[in-house]
Amino acid sequence: MNKIYPNTNPELQTAVQTFKETWNIHVYEKSLQEYGNCCYFLIREDLRKFLVIAAKKDHTFSKDFQGHQIEAGEFIYLRCKMSRKNASVLRSKFEFTNAVLVGKNNSYGFGDRLGNAGPAHLRAVRNSGFIPVLAQQSIRELERTNRTAQEVMDAASWAAFQEGFTEGFGADADHLKTTDHIDRMVKAGFTMFTIDPSDHVVNKARMMDQIELIKAFNSLPWKQLRCLPEDLLQRYLNEKLSLNNLILTPTKHDLITGMVKYGRVITHTKKLADYLASTYPDHPVELELSIDETELPTTPFEHYLIASELSRLGVELVSLAPRFCGDFEKGIDFKGDLDQFGVEYEQHLAVAERFGGYKLSIHSGSDKFSVYKVIGSIKSGSVHVKTAGTSYLEALRTVAEANPDLFREILSYSMKCFNEDKKTYHISAKLKNVPALESLKDKQLPLLLDDNDTRQVLHVAYGSILSENSEGKTFKAQLMRSLEENEHLHEKNLVHHFYKHLEPFLVDK
Ligand SMILES: [Zn+2]
Repeated sequence: MNKIYPNTNPELQTAVQTFKETWNIHVYEKSLQEYGNCCYFLIREDLRKFLVIAAKKDHTFSKDFQGHQIEAGEFIYLRCKMSRKNASVLRSKFEFTNAVLVGKNNSYGFGDRLGNAGPAHLRAVRNSGFIPVLAQQSIRELERTNRTAQEVMDAASWAAFQEGFTEGFGADADHLKTTDHIDRMVKAGFTMFTIDPSDHVVNKARMMDQIELIKAFNSLPWKQLRCLPEDLLQRYLNEKLSLNNLILTPTKHDLITGMVKYGRVITHTKKLADYLASTYPDHPVELELSIDETELPTTPFEHYLIASELSRLGVELVSLAPRFCGDFEKGIDFKGDLDQFGVEYEQHLAVAERFGGYKLSIHSGSDKFSVYKVIGSIKSGSVHVKTAGTSYLEALRTVAEANPDLFREILSYSMKCFNEDKKTYHISAKLKNVPALESLKDKQLPLLLDDNDTRQVLHVAYGSILSENSEGKTFKAQLMRSLEENEHLHEKNLVHHFYKHLEPFLVDK
């Protein structure tokens, strides 16, 4: 791969200038890259974006990018659609448009369900100290938004290119449950794999009587755990579990309950980690474990037990998402005791540090400003934050500002779908608390995006809004068009909103 020298060749600069003046078209200035006697840049023509490759007239374009050739002055140009094929060629030429491993550095996940928020995300995260994870999508989100993993990755590659973001971004295949899920995401170039073993958590372990519990403990998959029940008991009960600021003294009952609850979480995680390593030995992989979707908060000892067993089985994590105390509802700030959160966060951090210093991962991270402040004030360890819904809501804020009629339709339809859509989400919104649309003037509509009940009603309906309803109607095309027409406003809203997300972490740091 050739080295890239951005914006250095004056002749190619003239080629860009000539293009702009000839067709009076917007050029995304930060996208300019030079590569093999050509200059590459993104343009916006009407409402659509294209990749343009410029060269001197005597140049012959190689056959890899597919496009349409045009001429002006001394130069020829290849105007290329932002297609899947061209995205793949882009990645082969410009290393920085591929996802990279983020490691244990602070990182921020920007789920982008519409596929057009990436440039604003990059603008917001630049110089924040966080590495962006741009392509972040779960299988559930792919299904609800009717997108493929490849489309999500392509949107991230184009965003990095548009912003000239050469520092590297991660790509998170979120909440993976099976090897099939893994296959889909590896093929699309994802590098961070978030294993979700929630189907294997035995929540009722805490309610079992002694006989039931011992029976369940003995019938754990010990072969896969590569030890004997009595060895495991010995390991934890004879050893003082002393961490930085924390001494854990589990009883035999705690240990057995913990293993019954999480034993199969451990073996399932090991199974998926082994599958990745053996099936894709050359693919860059980093692993997160998410146990955030359980009924009760993860205790420090449960966290210790899982991390310690995974470490013994040779599974290395870059991050782990415990279920924290309090409520992490979608699209609104944390509800709960922040002091308690701070204490527990530091305990989880101590466990993470003991087993390799992986990051603590905050799921449902959209709009948890008060939590960020607490984490920002704890000056140790590293963190990963996942957001997604909040970007969709900023898109709707933009529509509310620019296209009130469409916003009214979207909110009405979201309300209609609410009782069905809310089922798979952790939220507390009530339909009756959403202000009556008829009573609001157009200019008041954007304020609804600051109302918790309305935010959640809009948030959970994204799947219904973006896919076809029973009458074969979808809002997606109108929504996308409105955002394309108001690109600057949309970007401004996103950047402003993500500064709010990033700023609390930077306190005194
Ligand atoms: Zn999660």
